[in-house]
Amino acid sequence: MTEYEYRLPQERRIATEFPGPKSAALAQRRAKVVGAGVASTLPLYVADADGGVIVDVDGNSLIDLGAGIAVTTVGASNPAVVSAVQNQVAHFTHTCFMIAPYEGYIEVAEKLAELTPGEHEKRSVLFNSGAEAVENAVKIARHATGRDAVIVFDHAYHGRTNLTMALTAKSMPYKHGFGPFAPEVYRAPMSYPFREGLNADGSAITGAQAAARAISVIEKQVGADSVAAVLIEPIQGEGGFIVPAEGFLPALAEWAKSNGVVFIADEVQSGFTRTGAWFASEHDGIVPDLVTTAKGIAGGMPLAAVTGRADLIDAVHPGGLGGTYGGNPVSCAAALASIEQMETLDLNSRARRIEETVTARLTALSKEVDIIGEVRGRGAMLAVELVVSGGREPNPDATKAIAARALKDGVVVLTCGTYGNVIRLLPPLVISDALLDEALTVLEDSIRTVAQEN
Ligand SMILES: *Cc1c(COP(=O)(O)O)cnc(C)c1O
Repeated sequence: MTEYEYRLPQERRIATEFPGPKSAALAQRRAKVVGAGVASTLPLYVADADGGVIVDVDGNSLIDLGAGIAVTTVGASNPAVVSAVQNQVAHFTHTCFMIAPYEGYIEVAEKLAELTPGEHEKRSVLFNSGAEAVENAVKIARHATGRDAVIVFDHAYHGRTNLTMALTAKSMPYKHGFGPFAPEVYRAPMSYPFREGLNADGSAITGAQAAARAISVIEKQVGADSVAAVLIEPIQGEGGFIVPAEGFLPALAEWAKSNGVVFIADEVQSGFTRTGAWFASEHDGIVPDLVTTAKGIAGGMPLAAVTGRADLIDAVHPGGLGGTYGGNPVSCAAALASIEQMETLDLNSRARRIEETVTARLTALSKEVDIIGEVRGRGAMLAVELVVSGGREPNPDATKAIAARALKDGVVVLTCGTYGNVIRLLPPLVISDALLDEALTVLEDSIRTVAQEN
């Protein structure tokens, strides 16, 4: 990573206690006007961010291993994105693509057709958020097949709107008290190698066995000819960075194909170089019928897409898909600049390098402490699953304690998982080697300290 020029010093700097006086004052104002249902991980308020650092209003500089949940892959103020956005806002901020269309939207769709898996004829439709993209992928699949049922998986996360809450697995905090939920959503068992020991010798079942188990549930409980779509994250995000066993996704995709079922890969979190490939589906050699994208697509600007088979997407009548802001011109400009940066800086290679560094260090640590159950993930979508000493019982308390310690020492790490026991690492891919090393040292110390207390 030599080409990227940082604007802010890439350093960890603790200037005040957390929160500092200015953040504390903002927290007081917030409590009076911002809804309590929106929670923030950090007690600090942001003044600036660049490369691998977030600087708060009191002058603290934190190392960012979260990238705003896998969004700022190219950095939170990538100069190419900044200049593309500035240029676009100076011309027009919005005309509504459904009223007065523009080239940027077409260029983003061209890029999506080029970069998503498969060489077939593709179409894209643009939206604002991941949830909106997932909703629309389901609309398209239902329209194209004339069927109702949607199959989702244990540990899945697909968003917070009414339909996507129904698609999401975890009750607290995403669904609790927010029902009733959309109908015709059915949940199948996932492949979660670390938590499966179905073989007589206690070893995990294979991907093919896990797929057969899921397919059996679908066929017995729903019926193949009622199923419009199978919707799955190729690497599950909020559910715990779960990488399914080899062979699981291809078997499901094959089943979908032979039963006229639309296979939708939700790549909202795993897409756009995050896993060391443009899309995580590539690691399993699958070509989804539809792919949903958002998060990393536009350097932090809101944009999302459904991309896939032309025959499916074009089955929808003109006017059947859209939205006021979908494919906003400023977001499209940001996406084109972000994608160009991913290519120029070769962020796929960068993600693979990060995987090597992080996995080597955390695997070594897992031999030293007994609260690490598993180190897993691909590219710069990596996780540590924490367990009660020596066993497999989830350890959410240790997980929280580790994240809190790391933050106290100036490193932002996010947690996730159905059991709240996974530390996930999603650094901006433009983070420097030195800063990543420093952050890992802090994280290792946090894990060691918490392991001793456990
Ligand atoms: C974040 C996420 C979503 C929802 O995206 P929003 O932009 O928050 O609506 C959907 N699917 C996956 C896999 C995600 O990680």
